[in-house]
Amino acid sequence: TVVTRFAPSPTGFLHIGGARTALFNWLFAKAQGGKMLLRIEDTDRARSTEAAIAAILDGLQWLGLDWDGEPTFQFARADRHREAVEQMLAAGRAYRCYASAEELEQMRATAQAEGRPPRYDGRWRDRPASEAPEGRAPAIRLKAPTEGETVIDDLVQGRVVIPNKDLDDLVLLRSDGTPTYMLAVVVDDHDMGVTHVIRGVDHLTNAARQTQIYEAMGWAVPKMAHIPLIHGPDGAKLSKRHGALGVEAYREMGFLPAALRNYLARLGWSHGDDEIFSTEQAVAWFDIGSVGRSAARFDLLKLQNLNGHYMRDTPDDELMAALKTALPHLPGGPDFSARLDASGRWEAFRLALPGLKERAKTLVELVDGARFLIDERPLAVEPAAAGLLTSDARDLLARLSERLSALEPWTAEGAEAVVRAVADDAGVKLGALAQPLRAALTGRKTSPGIFDVLVALGREESLGRIEDQAS
Ligand code: GLU
Repeated sequence: TVVTRFAPSPTGFLHIGGARTALFNWLFAKAQGGKMLLRIEDTDRARSTEAAIAAILDGLQWLGLDWDGEPTFQFARADRHREAVEQMLAAGRAYRCYASAEELEQMRATAQAEGRPPRYDGRWRDRPASEAPEGRAPAIRLKAPTEGETVIDDLVQGRVVIPNKDLDDLVLLRSDGTPTYMLAVVVDDHDMGVTHVIRGVDHLTNAARQTQIYEAMGWAVPKMAHIPLIHGPDGAKLSKRHGALGVEAYREMGFLPAALRNYLARLGWSHGDDEIFSTEQAVAWFDIGSVGRSAARFDLLKLQNLNGHYMRDTPDDELMAALKTALPHLPGGPDFSARLDASGRWEAFRLALPGLKERAKTLVELVDGARFLIDERPLAVEPAAAGLLTSDARDLLARLSERLSALEPWTAEGAEAVVRAVADDAGVKLGALAQPLRAALTGRKTSPGIFDVLVALGREESLGRIEDQAS
């Protein structure tokens, strides 16, 4: 069975590129009826933090990308990594290198002067241990093949051939005995039974070196799929300005996890012309072979539009539930929710939701559109809306308030009939009354349908707000 893994380094939050890598691993595993494992690559002790680990787990959970079993922590497996090196030493596939820091620096400088990448010259490959300098701890290097080539049959990049003469003898264990990243990844992927390594194309050269380690251990090399990087809409490398943020930032911007999943799935992968699909469909369709090679472009506007589509498509009760889950993470969300609690207007919010969601691309915009529900009388009317409250308009509002107070029962249809009648009697168009009415009820020029607003606010609050502005 297929086993994939997501292997983040906890040196920062789960950024959008990492989330896309996790999603592809998850989709592929689900599509194949396999498993996705999680490995925290915390070997960089100085830069790995508990906060980053927590943020990564939290981000994956929020996105609905569950992993199988307990996460593996790489640093805790250092003994096992050293054991693998012992095995390579015993088999003559690795050797002790006593080159000093100065010697290595010399090799680097020479390479630089000659304009070629630095490489270790293999000076300890065949030197007997008896020549080891006294008291110097050796690093352990892979005895890499010097002839022939290393081939990666990549599921995305195709056949990648690297001449072995271009790859030097990489360090497996540093002289202080700590395993290198290159070694740890191979041993862990092998021990975890990983069948498919899906990760960013920036790891492609590592793949060649890792392949040599697999071969030295006599292990089968897993299938590899190096997926394209994500660029900004202008084709430049993704930066903060483009949206290279942590996943939690997208949560705070009010995106629905399902919409973000859909959007991320389309970054580098496509299924015909389908833009909008459910996660179930993505699982049914996902095929690593149809991931393209060119960089994907991340476009925040497209994500917003897609999210708006998801919000409109989500049944009201479900959207309500999603909003309640999201509120603690939205700016001003906890305050909004406390004030809806205090004013007893959750039901009003629910009534206004169909109108609100038509106008919102994110949950943040949804909450913003619903501000009028928590605002207290007398309302602060936005300057743009205040212009609607002319003295004529205030007169009309006074007449309306009188007629509306007699309305029984308080329904959208009933309110509409009254508003129309008042406008007719005054010989003005509906808008001449409806617009000032909107300003009075919401303090804004735009809102959900005004009759729905009347119902959401209820009789007492509506009449109060109208009277506040009427002359
Ligand atoms: N820990 C690496 C990273 O965060 C990924 C290593 C891998 O997928 O092999 O980029």
